[in-house]
Amino acid sequence: MSDKNTKTIDLPNVTTVRDLAKKVDSSPIQVIKVLMANGVMANINQQIDFDTAAVVAAEMGYEASLEIPEISEEQVGEIPLWRRLIEDEDAKNLVNRPPVVTILGHVDHGKTTLLDAIRHTNVAGGESGGITQHIGAYQIMHKKRKITFLDTPGHAAFTAMRARGAQGADIVVLVVAANDGVMPQTREAIAHARAARVPIVVALNKIDLPDANPDYVKQQLADAGLVSDEWDGDTMIIPVSAKKNMGIDDLLEGIVLVADNSKIMANPHGTVIGTVIEAAVDKSRGVTATLLVQNGTLNAGDAIAVGMTCGNIRAMFDFKGNAIESAEPSTPAQILGLNDVPKAGDIFQVCASEREARAIVNERKMKAEQSKSTRSMTTLEDLFSKVKAGEMGELRLILKADVQGSLEPIINALNDIDQSEIKINVLYTEAGNVTENDVLLATASNAIILGFNVHADASSKNLAEKEGVSIRTYDIIYRLIEDVEKAVKGMLAPEKKETAIGKAEVLQTFKITKVGTVAGCRVTSGEIRRNAMVRVMRNNEKIFEGELASLKHEKDNEKEVREGFECGLRVRGFNDFEIGDTVISYTIEEVQR
Ligand code: GDP
Repeated sequence: MSDKNTKTIDLPNVTTVRDLAKKVDSSPIQVIKVLMANGVMANINQQIDFDTAAVVAAEMGYEASLEIPEISEEQVGEIPLWRRLIEDEDAKNLVNRPPVVTILGHVDHGKTTLLDAIRHTNVAGGESGGITQHIGAYQIMHKKRKITFLDTPGHAAFTAMRARGAQGADIVVLVVAANDGVMPQTREAIAHARAARVPIVVALNKIDLPDANPDYVKQQLADAGLVSDEWDGDTMIIPVSAKKNMGIDDLLEGIVLVADNSKIMANPHGTVIGTVIEAAVDKSRGVTATLLVQNGTLNAGDAIAVGMTCGNIRAMFDFKGNAIESAEPSTPAQILGLNDVPKAGDIFQVCASEREARAIVNERKMKAEQSKSTRSMTTLEDLFSKVKAGEMGELRLILKADVQGSLEPIINALNDIDQSEIKINVLYTEAGNVTENDVLLATASNAIILGFNVHADASSKNLAEKEGVSIRTYDIIYRLIEDVEKAVKGMLAPEKKETAIGKAEVLQTFKITKVGTVAGCRVTSGEIRRNAMVRVMRNNEKIFEGELASLKHEKDNEKEVREGFECGLRVRGFNDFEIGDTVISYTIEEVQR
C-alpha cells in the first residue's frame, strides 16, 4: 500500500532516461545518478525497462504502474495467420474443434491454483496423478466435450504469442479474486483479450474467503467494460473457489457456452499449421517443443518449419507423456526432432520435405537479418550491470522455481552455457516463491534472483528495491536461460571470425570520370559477393580493405560472381588498382561463445 505522499505515474514497458525524468518531475542527471547508485550505467537517451524505471521512480517518491497500451483499431483488426487460413478453407470441410482456453489475471488471484483444480478434477479417468510433466497445455473432458487449456499462465506468454500475430487462445478466463477486485494486471488482461478479439469468461475466485465481495467486484468489472449477464450485459461472471474446488463445473459449462457462440472450427484435413506454446532443451532428449495444432493434422515423421528452425518430427507425445502418432486441431503435442529451440508464439507449418522446411527457414533468416534494427535495447545489460560494475568474473544467481522438478532442467541448462570466461555460480536453489531471505542472501552475496513460475511477495519486492537487488521472473524456462546466456555473452567481447569466400585477379583497369576506377577481373576461386568485405592485395601485401561499391558481370549488377567468370568491380574509397592485383572477398561474423 502506498502512503498518502506517494504520487502515482504510468510507465510503458520501455522508456528512456529523458522521458522518465520528465515523468518524475526531475532532471535526467538526477535519474542517471539514481540509476548509477543501483549499478546501472546509463546515458540520457538510454532505454530502460519498466522494472528498472519503477525502482528509480520509487526512489523519487513515485509509485509506477505499467501503462496499458492503447489498442489501436489496426491492432484490434489484426487477424492471426491461422485464422485467415481457416477462413479461406471451404466451409464444408470445417468441423468443430475443442476451444483453446488461456487463464489471465492479476498476480496471486489464483490462476495457477485454478489450472491445477481443473486439471485434477477433470482429466479423463482420473489420470491426472500420472501427469508428472507440464508441457504448457493440457486437455480435459467436460460432459463429453474436450477443452484445451494453456497452462503457462501469465501475460508474458500470452503477449509473446500475440506479438507474433499467432494468438492461440479462443477464450480467455479472467481470474479476479473476489476479495481484491480489479487490479492493474486485470485491466491489462482485459486490454489484451480485447486486442486479440477473444471472448472473456470471468472466474470470480476466492469466494470462500470471508472478505469476498462479489457485488463490489462485479461493479468494478462493469466499470472496466465487462458487464455481468445478470445485469443484462454479455459477460459471464462465475463465482468459484479454486482452492476449495467450488464452481469449477459451472466455469467449464460457461466456457462451453461461450465456445458454442463463437465459431471454433478447423479443417482436420487442411493445411497443417499451428503455434509453439513452449520449447526447451532437454539434456537427454534434445530440443522439445509443445505445439498447438490449429488446422490440419500433425503426424509423427512430418517435416516442419518452425519460426527460425526446422526438423523432422522424431517422436510426438500428448500432455500425459504418451507417445502419439497424430494430433488434430486444438491438440497440444510435444515433439522431438527440431534442430534448434523455437520461440513461444512461433508459427509452424508442415512441409513436403525437410529440405523444403530448411529453405523456408533460410529465407526467413535472411529477411530477419535484413530488417535487423540497429537500435540496441539495453535492458539486459542494465540487469546484469551490477556484476559488470563490480568487475566480477562471476555471475551469481539465486534460483527459485515452482517445483523441485523445474529446478533440475534449469540448472542443467545453465551448466551447458559456455563459462570459460564468466563463471555462472548458482548460490542457492529452492522451490517456492521469492522471499525476503532470498533478497537478503542476494544482497549479501551480490547475486541476482531468477524465478521460474514463482513470484515475489510485496515485502521481498520492497526489500529488493531498497537493496538494489534484481528479481527477474519467467514463465518459460528457455527465456530464463536465454537471458543468462545473453548476459554472459554481453560481458564477453564478441569474437570476430573472418571467412574468405573467393579471390579474383585484376586483368584490366578503367578510369571512369566522376565514378572512379573499375577493375576488370576474373574470379579465380570461390565467389566475389557484392555485400561481403574486400581486401586488395599486391605482391602478397595488403593495399586496401573495404566494401564494394559495385559488382557487375557484363552490364548487369550482380549479387555474386562465381569462379571462372569475369566481373567489373569498384571498391568504395579506392581507385588505385593495378593489373595483377588480387581482390579477396571475405565475410566477418561474430562468433557466439
Ligand atoms: P496466481 O499468481 O494467480 O497464479 O495465484 P496462485 O494460484 O499462486 O494463488 C495465490 C494464492 O491464493 C495461493 O496462496 C493460493 O493458495 C490462494 N488461492 C487461490 N485460489 C484460492 C481460493 O479460491 N480461495 C482461497 N482462499 N485462496 C486461494
